[in-house]
Amino acid sequence: MCDKCEYSLNDYALSRRSFLKATGAAAVLGLTSAGFFAGSARADALTQAQRDKMTPEQIIEMMKKGNERFRRGERKNRNYLREQKASAKGQYPAAVLLSCIDSRAPAEVIMDLGIGDIFNCRVAGNIENDDILGSMEFACKLAGAKLVLVMGHTACGAIKGAISNAELGNLTGLLDKIKPAVQATTYAGERSASNYSFVDTVARKNVEMTVANIRRDSTVLAELESTGNIKITGAMYNLETGAVEFMG
Ligand SMILES: [Zn+2]
Repeated sequence: MCDKCEYSLNDYALSRRSFLKATGAAAVLGLTSAGFFAGSARADALTQAQRDKMTPEQIIEMMKKGNERFRRGERKNRNYLREQKASAKGQYPAAVLLSCIDSRAPAEVIMDLGIGDIFNCRVAGNIENDDILGSMEFACKLAGAKLVLVMGHTACGAIKGAISNAELGNLTGLLDKIKPAVQATTYAGERSASNYSFVDTVARKNVEMTVANIRRDSTVLAELESTGNIKITGAMYNLETGAVEFMG
């Protein structure tokens, strides 16, 4: 059983109370780290108060700054052990990501995020399905995340597979979910998996369509967005440059 499966609303409320109690005790003992690092840096995992006061746009800005640090070869002076201990009794992630399984596109690394910062759904080709939507609904409606970000990437093998009609066991059905993006992509040049420009154009279209499909297939998320509680948008990660480009 995963954490998500075991959660109920009561469990969640309890875990929040336990966490507040724990952080309160830590403050009395002088164990919290406010001011330990300069500027906006923080030593521990996101607290509820820190997360709740952020807008979706500020969360995107946090990710952009993290990606800029990554591209400069820098990293926030974070302490994973402190983040792990601070988040053990409760989590307040700012966003839920849907990204590809590609080993070269780990969201937390390329945007310099820490333990407890984001939920991360990963599936080849970053497509949505009922289970992914259920995970996102949990993340936003029950756990309070404010941003749903679908992140595709360049040179994606799943996109290439969909373009070339690859077939293999259960992969065939997954690639079928990407094929509407292949068909919907307008492209003047060679429409083949060996043309990286076409592959990347399809990957971008696939992100746009997945964002639209999330709104279409999840009334929970669509309502949260229409009431201004969350933002649903996309991004593309460039494997060559290391840059994450946000679409909105
Ligand atoms: Zn991929």
